[in-house]
Amino acid sequence: MSRTHHCYELTAKNTGQTVTLAGWVDSVRDHGGILFVDLRDREGLTQVVFHPTVEALAPHFNALKPESVIEVTGEVSPRPEDTQNPKLKTGAVEVMAATMVVHNVSETPPFPMDDETGDKVNEDLRLTYRYLDLRRPRNLKNLRLRHEAAQSVRNYFNGQGFLEVETPTLFKSTPEGAREFLVPSRLNAGSFYALPQSPQQFKQMLMVAGVEKYYQIARCYRDEDLRADRQPEFTQIDLEVSFIDREGMYALIEGLLTEVWKDILGVDIPTPFPRMSYEEAMNRYGVDKPDTRYGFELVDLREVFKESEFKVFSGTIKQGGVVKAINMKGLADITQGELKFLEDTAKSLGAKGLAYIQARENGWRSPILKFMSEKEQAGLKETLNIETGDIVFFAAAEWEKACAILGRLRLEAAKYLEKRGALNIDPKAYNFLWVIEFPLMLFDEEQGRFAAAHHPFTSPVPEDIPLLDSDPKAVRGQHYDIVLNGVELGGGSIRIHQPELQQKVFEDVLQIPKDVVESRFGYFLRAFQFGAPPHGGIALGFDRMVAILAGKNYIRDIIAFPKTQKGQDLMANAPSPVAGKHLKELHIEALSEE
Ligand code: ASP
Repeated sequence: MSRTHHCYELTAKNTGQTVTLAGWVDSVRDHGGILFVDLRDREGLTQVVFHPTVEALAPHFNALKPESVIEVTGEVSPRPEDTQNPKLKTGAVEVMAATMVVHNVSETPPFPMDDETGDKVNEDLRLTYRYLDLRRPRNLKNLRLRHEAAQSVRNYFNGQGFLEVETPTLFKSTPEGAREFLVPSRLNAGSFYALPQSPQQFKQMLMVAGVEKYYQIARCYRDEDLRADRQPEFTQIDLEVSFIDREGMYALIEGLLTEVWKDILGVDIPTPFPRMSYEEAMNRYGVDKPDTRYGFELVDLREVFKESEFKVFSGTIKQGGVVKAINMKGLADITQGELKFLEDTAKSLGAKGLAYIQARENGWRSPILKFMSEKEQAGLKETLNIETGDIVFFAAAEWEKACAILGRLRLEAAKYLEKRGALNIDPKAYNFLWVIEFPLMLFDEEQGRFAAAHHPFTSPVPEDIPLLDSDPKAVRGQHYDIVLNGVELGGGSIRIHQPELQQKVFEDVLQIPKDVVESRFGYFLRAFQFGAPPHGGIALGFDRMVAILAGKNYIRDIIAFPKTQKGQDLMANAPSPVAGKHLKELHIEALSEE
């Protein structure tokens, strides 16, 4: 092959040179038998002119169809002034084809390959032909950005003295939290590996091993029901450091993110990033990953309603719960459909209904107004700064639930305001935020019991260790989340490195039976008996980070071969049934659905 240039390179300076280009036919225009072809490669487009009078070309004219792959040699010639295309880097010239090689004649693609129309094509069809979808310049650009982000991450850690270490993806089953993928072992009948949900245990073992600073751009697997923006396999920037405290970790990660943002977007992010405790985040935003680009903060109304005749409110307060509200300014014109959606959302989070007040021109409208005294109404107006055009939503429940309900309503209602043009969220604002001081344990609704807020390896805040026995729910963990514009970009913690404390957390705090601790974590506890340094780490969602850098809403847009909501690869058709013989070798039997 003798390609001399890429399709973005040629300008008037190359006039008279003989060049060879190789790539895909982007489009063909026939002007009275002369074919004008836009030739495309990874880098750009160049116009190539095919004259039917050139003998070497004539037999190949049929191959000049969109997406065929050709190699063409010819002289660079300036385009006549009136046919120049200033929008194209190579728009001042064209190549006069003299010879060509046809590498592959393309069938008509199943969907338009240009960026604008291509984006609107049904996603399943695009994923079935993902190699064509990826070939569109917009998608190739995203792959390149992902590559550059990975390089930037590597450069940063290499510069900081980290070692990149690969950890296994065949691991031990540790059935906690998210579901795992199991892999049957042919050589060990009846036994299974699991694909790791993260390299957590390995990276801690690397600290015991004395690596001191580890990172990896690691593939992780979770067999969960896929919500809107999850993938069964995903990539994390995973790291662990010995002899580091929380402050050291904040500085390290701020250094990483500011460098990546500078490298990829040319944007300077100020440091240090603001910090907010879990309690404050929940109180003000109703969520542990607040989007601080806009307000509409939650307001506590216990003072206003503690003596109220309205028993739903005062009763909740008497039982130790809270009454909170948000004022979604300017959304009094909410539609019935929108209101219904918000009510369903509140109910799905455990609310019995949705109480609200609309502040209209002709006064307040609300199903609960008749229960409120004038004093309470005046208190509300002042506390929430209610003006005509506003709508206020209430939640009365125990603290965490009330916060969570309003937190979700805030997000949904903000979308309605955005749609009306009443709220402009700057897509170029990057509000990084550390959320810190999480409780070590949180109540897990699904499991119906307290579980580690982060994972069982997180160290308690030293001054809270005495509370482990007396009041474990009050113990705070040395856990930190890094949040960006309402997205949890990553989370980590300073770990326990004392075997006794780790054992206590497993057995006494998390109530894992001793024999289960031994079979799951026996090796881990033993390792801590041989000189475990203090250490801590974090993992950042690489897919999510790249999606934000690329300005994309979904991580599947920046993953080369993503899976569907049902975890399927539509291109290769996976997962797929396997032959009984194959299963037998693996010592397993499949139960079919019929
Ligand atoms: N392994 C954790 C996770 O995947 C992150 C960490 O604690 O480093 O969420």
